[in-house]
Amino acid sequence: MDAEKIIARAEQQCAAAFLRTEKIEQSNVSRLMDVFSKNKVAQRHFSGSTGYGYDDEGRDALERIWAGIFSSEKALVRPQLMSGTHAIAVALLGNLRPGEEMLAISGKPYDTLMDVIGSEENPVEGSMYSLGIAYRELEAENARVNIPFVLKNLRPETRLVHMQRSRGYAWRRALDIAEIEAVAEAIHAARPDIVVFLDNCYGEFTDIREPRVDLMAGSLIKNPGGGIAPTGGYIAGREKYVQRAAARLSAPGIGEEIGSYEAGYRLFYQGLFLAPHVVSEALKGSILLGEVFSLLGYEVSPAPGEPHGDIIQAVKLGDRETLIDFCQMVQSASPVDAHVLPEPWAMPGYSDEVIMAAGTFVSGASIELSADAPMREPYIVYVQGGLCYAHVRLAALRIVDKMLAKGRVASGVLAGLDGKI
Ligand SMILES: *Cc1c(COP(=O)(O)O)cnc(C)c1O
Repeated sequence: MDAEKIIARAEQQCAAAFLRTEKIEQSNVSRLMDVFSKNKVAQRHFSGSTGYGYDDEGRDALERIWAGIFSSEKALVRPQLMSGTHAIAVALLGNLRPGEEMLAISGKPYDTLMDVIGSEENPVEGSMYSLGIAYRELEAENARVNIPFVLKNLRPETRLVHMQRSRGYAWRRALDIAEIEAVAEAIHAARPDIVVFLDNCYGEFTDIREPRVDLMAGSLIKNPGGGIAPTGGYIAGREKYVQRAAARLSAPGIGEEIGSYEAGYRLFYQGLFLAPHVVSEALKGSILLGEVFSLLGYEVSPAPGEPHGDIIQAVKLGDRETLIDFCQMVQSASPVDAHVLPEPWAMPGYSDEVIMAAGTFVSGASIELSADAPMREPYIVYVQGGLCYAHVRLAALRIVDKMLAKGRVASGVLAGLDGKI
């Protein structure tokens, strides 16, 4: 039994899922090109600006296009939004006032947001907690949002409801568009004053459109930057909420009017153009990895055949050594820093050691192939990204090869595979 045979077998089983992914890509490219042409994108939009950046045409057109694609009235798409966490923090802090409350309904928010939220035990300077903004979190087993339960839990001071589309780094499923919108509708019917917010990171272009909510945010070094946006984040949604975020990003009274970027906007436009394809390649890579590890007898999420509402594939590897090998093989197959050997380390802010594999052109870009894991039972690795499918396939091949060489695949599993291949 060799690794190539196992990968080829898994690939055969992915055919239907790959086809679904390609259809989503086609639909998104078509949608994108309609919006590009409607906005008359031209060379001049790629030029940068300096100073205040008043009437920066490239920036303004990019934001109109973004709003069109993200089912929104208005969007901020800025290199000055420094990361996904920054974009989310600006959106939240711009829309919440002292005495008001944010209610998280799809489970615990992404790790980096816990400092933005803050708490009595973790009273981070400038956090929502430090500003007198309250926070509550509802139980949501496997991110299943129970609408009647949510409605019962709204309080007069509840001003913003938080949902996270992606699994992030948790063993849960991603939310799909239909359920996000059903939740938003039910909340609006009961309480039109509440802002329904979505952390859209890792979810963009995994479906044929983006969810309609009041406000959402994400990172440009993930899906919508197409792998070539050099930095940045976005906030999109209803005009008044995006404007409040803009007042927080720049200054009250100035809002979205300023912000220059001398390097120009071509990489943002071209990245957005490439995003449906790059996301499709990354998704196919995730689908392949899920199928391969399922064939090898591991529990994976999403399971083969399940929809992918984000680009992440989680695999329960079960032991420390396999996890380290997995990450080291991903690193060895990377175009940058392939010579580096990742090791578990005690990263500040994390309770367990973590191991991270990433060899990316854009520093820290997780739309490029990367794998991360906390070093704790049951040793789950979270893999995401890949600018081209062939690259993820190569990494999968090396991982399986290593596992076979070290005798980590149970003989029963191999015998079963022998029958099938
Ligand atoms: C990546 C991510 C964030 C934070 O983005 P950064 O760019 O890493 O700050 C927030 N939420 C989710 C779901 C993410 O995947």
